[in-house]
Amino acid sequence: MADRDGKIWMDGELVEWREAKIHVLTHTLHYGCGAFEGVRAYNTANGTAIFRLQEHTDRLFNSAKILRMQIPFGKEQVNEAQKQVVRANNLESCYLRPLTWIGSQKLGVSPKGNRIHLMVAAWPWGAYLGEEGMQRGIRVKTSSYTRHHVNITMTQAKAVSNYSNSILANMEAVDDGYDEALLLDSTGFVSEGAGENIFVVKDGVIYTPDLSAGALNGITRNTVFHIAKDLGIEIVQKRITRDEVYIADEAFFTGTAAEVTPIRELDRVQLGIGSRGPVTEKIQAAFFDIVNGRNPKYAHWLTKV
Ligand code: PMP
Repeated sequence: MADRDGKIWMDGELVEWREAKIHVLTHTLHYGCGAFEGVRAYNTANGTAIFRLQEHTDRLFNSAKILRMQIPFGKEQVNEAQKQVVRANNLESCYLRPLTWIGSQKLGVSPKGNRIHLMVAAWPWGAYLGEEGMQRGIRVKTSSYTRHHVNITMTQAKAVSNYSNSILANMEAVDDGYDEALLLDSTGFVSEGAGENIFVVKDGVIYTPDLSAGALNGITRNTVFHIAKDLGIEIVQKRITRDEVYIADEAFFTGTAAEVTPIRELDRVQLGIGSRGPVTEKIQAAFFDIVNGRNPKYAHWLTKV
């Protein structure tokens, strides 16, 4: 990824993609304390627009607050940086990656005395779990790795360090021939995917784990709450067991990268009809209408670049 043309916003200025470098003694590289966001911009009928930019920026600042990091920029500046990066790279639709990290002034677990940095990069990124998966659904494996307990790492922070758990779970699932992992919380209830929130559909009602299961408070998850309300579908947050997923009529993952991805199988057990179910299809269609600017009710969620 490092060797390409383009611009990256780093600490207040646009720098050449290949020159956007940090030192090997960077604190975050050693101890994993940092926070990031995943954001998408879509090529709407009114031009390129970033989806729920303010909510992503707010979550980045909340993640930093949880990790006791003081981002040395204002939220407005960070919003502007994201718009600037999309424009500077001539991107129509893309994924954006803001990241805040602790600098290289000193090492040792205590980060005090280090500068806090921020960067924003953007690049084109298609369907995270594959185009075919968006249509047919993906195959998921319950992970042998447990999702973070809410009081071990902070699960409401989109913290860099939380992702070693996601990486282990994803690698195990992919090595075993699946597309993605589903993680259970420390008490054995369903939590979330390696980089996605999970929803199941049973008898016309949509269920998703409440956040005490250690799942990230996903912005796409919240978008699905709005969509379900508009479609008159009841949505319930509750504890979910893995066997409830086996006998669900449908299941799907949500995330900025994953968007709305149907799940057709968990642990080799076919879910429902074994492909994208009708409720998932409706939610998915409504989601793409919103992000692509075809639903005026949610025009305020799209920030033109
Ligand atoms: N859970 C995890 C662990 C994630 O990495 C993501 C992706 N950010 C999500 C859930 C979904 O969050 P969002 O919809 O805000 O992208």
